[in-house]
Amino acid sequence: MSEQHHSEPRIEFVDFSLALELSEDEAARKKAVSKKLRIKPDRIQEMKLVKHSIDARRANIRIQLRMEVGIDCALAEYVAPVPSYKSLNAGVEKVIIVGCGPAGMFAALRCIELGKKPIILERGKDASARRFDLGPIMRKGQVIEDSNYCFGEGGAGTYSDGKLYTRATKRGPVRDVYDVLVAHGAPEQILTDAHPHVGSNLLPNVVKAMRGSIIEAGGEVHFGAKVVDFLLDESGKEMRGVATADGEEYIGESVILATGHSARDVYKLLADKNILLEQKPFAVGMRIEHPQPLIDKIQYSFRAGVKRPDILPAARYRLATKIDDRGVHSFCMCPGGFIVPAATENDEVVVNGMSLARRDSPFANSGMVVTVEPEDTEKFKKEHGVLAGIAYQKDLEVKASKAGGGVQKAPGQRAIDFINGKLSDTLPNTSYFPGLTSARLDEILPYDVSYRMKIGLKKFGNQMNGYVGEDANLLGFETRTSSPVRIPRDEKTLHHPEIQNFIPCGEGAGYAGGIVSAALDGMRCAEAVC
Ligand SMILES: Cc1cc2nc3c(=O)[nH]c(=O)nc-3n(C[C@H](O)[C@H](O)[C@H](O)COP(=O)(O)OP(=O)(O)OC[C@H]3O[C@@H](n4cnc5c(N)ncnc54)[C@H](O)[C@@H]3O)c2cc1C
Repeated sequence: MSEQHHSEPRIEFVDFSLALELSEDEAARKKAVSKKLRIKPDRIQEMKLVKHSIDARRANIRIQLRMEVGIDCALAEYVAPVPSYKSLNAGVEKVIIVGCGPAGMFAALRCIELGKKPIILERGKDASARRFDLGPIMRKGQVIEDSNYCFGEGGAGTYSDGKLYTRATKRGPVRDVYDVLVAHGAPEQILTDAHPHVGSNLLPNVVKAMRGSIIEAGGEVHFGAKVVDFLLDESGKEMRGVATADGEEYIGESVILATGHSARDVYKLLADKNILLEQKPFAVGMRIEHPQPLIDKIQYSFRAGVKRPDILPAARYRLATKIDDRGVHSFCMCPGGFIVPAATENDEVVVNGMSLARRDSPFANSGMVVTVEPEDTEKFKKEHGVLAGIAYQKDLEVKASKAGGGVQKAPGQRAIDFINGKLSDTLPNTSYFPGLTSARLDEILPYDVSYRMKIGLKKFGNQMNGYVGEDANLLGFETRTSSPVRIPRDEKTLHHPEIQNFIPCGEGAGYAGGIVSAALDGMRCAEAVC
């Protein structure tokens, strides 16, 4: 770069790090930027935070920052994202979207942008009504089968942990997803955090606002509209629409199926109609829970007795290894969170994790799972064919319910007892509201999962000192990590290879694994039909 260029007004992006205690201090930031750019501080006219992340690899925690810097010039004016959807013209073609999770909702908004009328059909209730149905699960162990932690407005994403980071950056414009969420009320901080998170107390309002945008532009959202049949044309090769349990028929130009991984009746319906499905790998295991201060101590290298300062978020971790050709890994880690009953039927127990925006519960929990390949489900293939993976999951969920003793109580075992093959005499405190019953999880899990889990946990205990100590608790079972079934689709058109105008979408179809990737897939599917 020429000297002359260096003296010109310009905008630059600067990466640097600051000690934790200085990281929020504007003067310290300016000093670091001017040093990095080798310019006088008074040439910095304006600075804006672009990315914020924590580097806790050393005992002295540092904050990594990326700033946009106006040198002798101002930055472009920041325009906060707002909903801006044009009203649809009368008579535009209709797209039927089954499922009001992130995939379905983002598909609907993209349809509107592209001039098609989305009609969302959702088996569950709107987010406010749905909230009241979570009470009976927690307090009485009673699952309302169409309205629970998986089903209802916003899908499995609404009362979730609300982590929004994704490794699916190649799947599409992640920033667009964040902008839509911010436009509908999510905190702007998600635009700059390296590990953005919303929390279950904020998400319901975001999904309600998104529904508002869909309806205001001329789209439709129907709750209590459980799809029970697919309407094919006479050739059986083209999708015309769907029928709901209350006898209504919805006909559209295309059908986007975004029903999530827990809609087992939908897979069954597709299989019964001889619509091509494939088995795919998935993962099962447990939720592991620790006191959050223990995870803070390990991850932030605190000395004994040191408390996490408010400026630092509850610490997270990610663990992964491979044992005999199968992955063993942490999944959906929820710092400062709660373990929740995520079953969709009354004869099963399924655990998952969630948190509030502040992430201030005294517990840290995470899925700890082992990959299950289609060949590992052989035992169920004769009876269940391509749905063998679902039968495998269900078998474990029913066993968990029996071992827990009913009313959504989960079987629990200390991690150290799991490793040593021993029933726990007592169990540590837990955030899981329905309660725990001590059980031999190591014996209930299939051997292929159990022995790998033992080795994996021991390894993780070596990586994180104290991870499998007396305070580490395991709850059974985490089975709904992803769909065991893929609904195939053409790589380019995204239509099902055998059925025209039928677009399998999102996590349930096997093309996403989380809120953001489901949203991205929803947008892609809408583009494919438009
Ligand atoms: C407790 C919990 C915590 C989670 N935490 C996170 C997290 O922190 N970060 C993250 O990225 N992911 C998280 N997830 C996973 C995430 O929620 C899902 O990956 C995501 O919601 C999948 O989106 P989807 O739209 O494909 O499906 P879903 O969100 O499952 O939505 C499918 C929708 O279809 C509806 N439906 C099903 N069958 C029918 C039918 N027959 N007729 C009409 N409607 C139907 C369902 O009611 C549901 O609303 C969590 C999940 C749970 C359960």
